Amino acid sequence: MQGPTPAADPQSFDRVLSSMCTEPHPAARAAAERFLATNPGDPGTYRTVAELEDRAVELLASLVDHPSPADAAGYVTSGGTEANLQAVRAARDRHAAAHRNGGPGVNVVAPESAHFSFHKAADVLGVALRTVPLDEDHRADIEAMWAAVDDATALVVGVAGTTEYGRVDPIPELGRIASSVNALLHVDAAWGGFLLPFTDHDWSFADAPVDTLTVDPHKFGQAPVPAGGLLARESATLDALAVETPYLETRSQATLTGTRSGAGVAGTVAAMKELWPDGYREAAERAGENAEWLAAELSARGYDVVEPELPLVAAAMPNEEFDALRKAGWRISRTGAGELRIVCMPHVTREMLRALVDDLDRIHT
Ligand code: PLP
Repeated sequence: MQGPTPAADPQSFDRVLSSMCTEPHPAARAAAERFLATNPGDPGTYRTVAELEDRAVELLASLVDHPSPADAAGYVTSGGTEANLQAVRAARDRHAAAHRNGGPGVNVVAPESAHFSFHKAADVLGVALRTVPLDEDHRADIEAMWAAVDDATALVVGVAGTTEYGRVDPIPELGRIASSVNALLHVDAAWGGFLLPFTDHDWSFADAPVDTLTVDPHKFGQAPVPAGGLLARESATLDALAVETPYLETRSQATLTGTRSGAGVAGTVAAMKELWPDGYREAAERAGENAEWLAAELSARGYDVVEPELPLVAAAMPNEEFDALRKAGWRISRTGAGELRIVCMPHVTREMLRALVDDLDRIHT
């Protein structure tokens, strides 16, 4: 077949300022390569990687303050989308079992800032997604969340590190809202989970009656893609998702995908062994300083900046300037409201940000 030769090398991270993924830690990359041909979806056959997944879950459970990391329920998902979908599925089924009338009419209440994966989950699972307006600082508006729940609410969602502005919802208050209607509480810390342990935010299993939580090693955790994480306070929450698997050596499976990448599992364990907690703390501090620096530089140039809470900077920017930066090779994105959005991931250095600001100055002159 004729056609252009595919590029031999993947894109470098030199100019990537829009991604929530990053360069994997070298140890994680090597581990992922070693386990490339293993399948934790078939734990009876692929025992080594299955044991490694238990270790991954234990490490992730420690990170998110699970009350009992050694026997926490969870697994390494393909990403935040699958983890969020499984949380919705678990809550829907629990609600159906309790009410004997699940299915139509069941709803999930989430702030408008919830990642679009919840829209996919609602569509696939046949539940109504009630999105609720935010307060003026881009967090879930508590009064609006109280007003949105009712007896048909199966799940209340809070985000700990929103995709657009890096905001943390008031998770303990969302827990009270969920309890008031006997719904589960899910925290989406897909991106924030590897940053929040080094802050004083309330977001984890220890801070609130969180039932399920998404935390993705392939984002700030510096593991290779695909490595998301789903954890549950009670094993029963995930056990309820299990289906029988007649042709495998093991008898049931609670994951959404069947065959899964052992690379994600091995990469997660390797990255966390190298980096938890000191390496992640250093990365979080460096990212936070970079975000503060960029926010100050943009403010000094007259841009209207959304003050960063986690290392994510948003700033209103005219279209022509945004387009000129993209033409200069920067991989940058916009918020839904059109602001420039820069995610200060571990690969984003001060030199990169200086070069961005220099380009902006050149565009102005
Ligand atoms: N949740 C949050 C808060 C996210 O920011 C993202 C992606 O950026 C996701 C979920 C979805 O994760 P994934 O793309 O790994 O499926």
